[in-house]
Amino acid sequence: MMSLPKTMSGILIEETGGVEALQWKTDLPVPELKEGEILVRNEFVGVNYIDTYFRTGLYRAPLPLVTGKEAAGVIIALHPSVPSSDPTTPLKEGVRVAYVADHAYAEYTAVPATCASPIPEGLSTETAAASLLQGLTALTFVREAAGLARPRGTTHQLGVSEGPWALVHAAAGGAGSMLVQMLVVHGAKVIGTAGGKEKCEIARRNGAQWVVDSKAEDVVARVKEITGGRGVDVIFDGVGKATFEADLEMVARKGTVAVFGNASGPVPPVDVLRLGAKNIKLMRPVLFSYIAIKEERDAYTKELFELLLAGKVNVKIHHVYPLKEVGSAHTDLEGRKTTGKLLLKI
Ligand code: NDP
Repeated sequence: MMSLPKTMSGILIEETGGVEALQWKTDLPVPELKEGEILVRNEFVGVNYIDTYFRTGLYRAPLPLVTGKEAAGVIIALHPSVPSSDPTTPLKEGVRVAYVADHAYAEYTAVPATCASPIPEGLSTETAAASLLQGLTALTFVREAAGLARPRGTTHQLGVSEGPWALVHAAAGGAGSMLVQMLVVHGAKVIGTAGGKEKCEIARRNGAQWVVDSKAEDVVARVKEITGGRGVDVIFDGVGKATFEADLEMVARKGTVAVFGNASGPVPPVDVLRLGAKNIKLMRPVLFSYIAIKEERDAYTKELFELLLAGKVNVKIHHVYPLKEVGSAHTDLEGRKTTGKLLLKI
């Protein structure tokens, strides 16, 4: 085993707040491995909106905190308890892995071995880091929250389908881009909303057959027009507070509203009696509960990597920021200046 450094660079949050809370440090201790963990030398770290919630304190974690929920890199050490010779979990020193776990904003992260997936040949470390969390979100939500069936073989034709109507807010964003593509793969008729012409064009390129400019158009009226007054069967809403009331208007009878994020702020408490008028199913899905069991995580990750390798789902990288400039990444993301995925380079 190679000798490991004692200290590393990383981003530490000592007090929650604005981007100034993200402090660049060069003397953080390299984590010591506990049972079941591997040490990953991160190469690319994915920036996700959830990172801003931990920074601001909307979501709570013990401080001081190295936040960050996904990365990809190389295994440099394994706890002796990790079965490195087990062929079903080929985790060994030198193997490239991607993971969804905690404490990714650093040079090195101790990752539960059950959370790390070897990156297949043909997929770059950068693409793996850029697609894992949001790709798994889209895949699990489309399958489990919307209940869409697994696409059969490779026969599915892209284009307008006979499947259910689906609406994705922020359809040019990271999670939104993945959701649109995944819904298309699963045969849905997809409407994407996005703020501005350029973002609408990206939503269209992601595969949304209809796009609505949320900055310039009346979204509810347009969606009713597109669906012939019927409304949509499933809505994926990561915007939250600003769009929730419109969701209740746009969803079809017996439809599903999946509120999965708070980009504009959390949705205030809801009177459930309001759901009765159309028998609406209201959900608050979270990726982590869909991949809590290793078999689930492995199966979805395998499927995601296959979709990426086959070119059926693509990831567009908005910008790669040096780790030290993570504050700019948060500013851009919260300022609605980005499309696709933001990465940090170690
Ligand atoms: P995005 O790349 O989608 O960026 C956020 C987008 O939200 C913006 O680009 C903007 O798009 C839109 N938006 C609308 N109103 C606002 C506002 N007031 N402030 C900021 N943005 C706004 O980010 P992510 O892909 O990282 O995340 C999207 C959402 O998905 C987040 O809410 C995140 O928490 C959630 N998420 C939830 C998961 C779960 O398991 N529950 C997993 C992954 C993501 P536009 O200008 O087009 O409106």
